[in-house]
Amino acid sequence: MRAEVISVGTELLLGQTVDTNSAYIGTFLAELGVDHTHRQTVGDNFDRLVSALQLALSRADIVITIGGLGPTQDDLTRQAIASALGEELVRDESLVEHLKNEYGRRGLKLVESQFRQADRPASGKPISNSNGTAPGLICTKESKYIIALPGPPRELIPMLEGPVREFLVSLNPGPQLYSRTLRVAGIGEGTLCEILADLMEGTETTLSPYAKTGEVHLRASTKAASQKEADTRLDFVEQEVRSLIGDKLYAIGEESLEEWIVKKLTNRSETVATAESCTGGLLAAAITSAAGASEVLGSSFITYSAEAKHELVGVKPESIAQFGTVSSEVAEELAIGARLRAGVTYGIGITGVAGSEPLDEPPEPKPSGLVYIGISTPTQSQVHTLHYRGSRELIRERAVVAALIELRNVLLAN
Ligand code: ATP
Ligand code: MG
Repeated sequence: MRAEVISVGTELLLGQTVDTNSAYIGTFLAELGVDHTHRQTVGDNFDRLVSALQLALSRADIVITIGGLGPTQDDLTRQAIASALGEELVRDESLVEHLKNEYGRRGLKLVESQFRQADRPASGKPISNSNGTAPGLICTKESKYIIALPGPPRELIPMLEGPVREFLVSLNPGPQLYSRTLRVAGIGEGTLCEILADLMEGTETTLSPYAKTGEVHLRASTKAASQKEADTRLDFVEQEVRSLIGDKLYAIGEESLEEWIVKKLTNRSETVATAESCTGGLLAAAITSAAGASEVLGSSFITYSAEAKHELVGVKPESIAQFGTVSSEVAEELAIGARLRAGVTYGIGITGVAGSEPLDEPPEPKPSGLVYIGISTPTQSQVHTLHYRGSRELIRERAVVAALIELRNVLLAN
């Protein structure tokens, strides 16, 4: 069973609205086992919309339109569907009643043009809209279907997940696609693909890598007749990946690195503090984005200037004079200082050059992208030296992920 999506709206063509609905529908159709073969975007123009619908009907069994169902003159989807199907547009009395109730309930006056929302192609069955006034429609012709949905995501998504899902399942589209995300940190995409090469050749379960900042997400997917059958295959792939890369597979599904860390620290009744220079608090922000962070984040020091490094966490002025603010020694002192000043189990210090120009400081200039990450535990401290390329934002983001990965390594090792 093939589906095609048509997004309607000149604002989409002009780039003023990003077509997030299509992306949502893409995942939705894949999960349901419906083949999604084409997608079109068309402006608010009657003739072009009718042609788009005709083309879609010529090659798909199910056509889903997005937008253009509202009451205004540029909302043309209803008329265009009727025209493409060769049907009359009829005014549905039950929809007229529904509109009167909806507007009445909100204390709004219903003007003539708004009754357009009660029109439907003769074969159209309304889909109720719990978050707006314009209903959706399911129209039929010779075993083909056009499903019309409103543009606003808060109206579209509930319709899709409720009545549309139910309708598509009733058409029995075939085995559903089941997926699982395996989250990997601490190995680059290239190396990972080399290690998993044999596994990625598998046909029953596909394994696709998506590189994220400092992490790789592996999406394992399989078409199966039931959740149970899918789980058996996905469990197998997960075990294989685990046996090949061990702890580098840090979580399954939605859990982020920071969530993993906050959970682990909470279980161990341990705490952490940060002293950040080039990341300006981003590491602390990442940790606080995880639920439960208040149990584990002691303090965060933003130690941007040399003075702040000394005053807030006690970095020695001699160290700065001798090695410079961006140095392994200062990163270590930031980590130790953060740990001692905050009275926590682990301290993390970050110092680096995020800007595109080298930092000119004695004893020698430091290149753009050089970052030192210090981690201090109750028994030892260590410093990691990293060399990044890219924009200021990217360097800062990667430094944060690297710090989280190093903290995770410490937690795994102790
Ligand atoms: P309304 O009754 O609100 O006019 P509609 O069904 O006529 O709804 P449109 O007028 O095409 O839909 O779009 C309404 C709003 O919905 C747009 O301004 C935009 O914010 C959002 N929208 C439309 N299409 C999309 C899309 N494909 N992805 C994300 N948002 C969209
Ligand atoms: Mg509209």
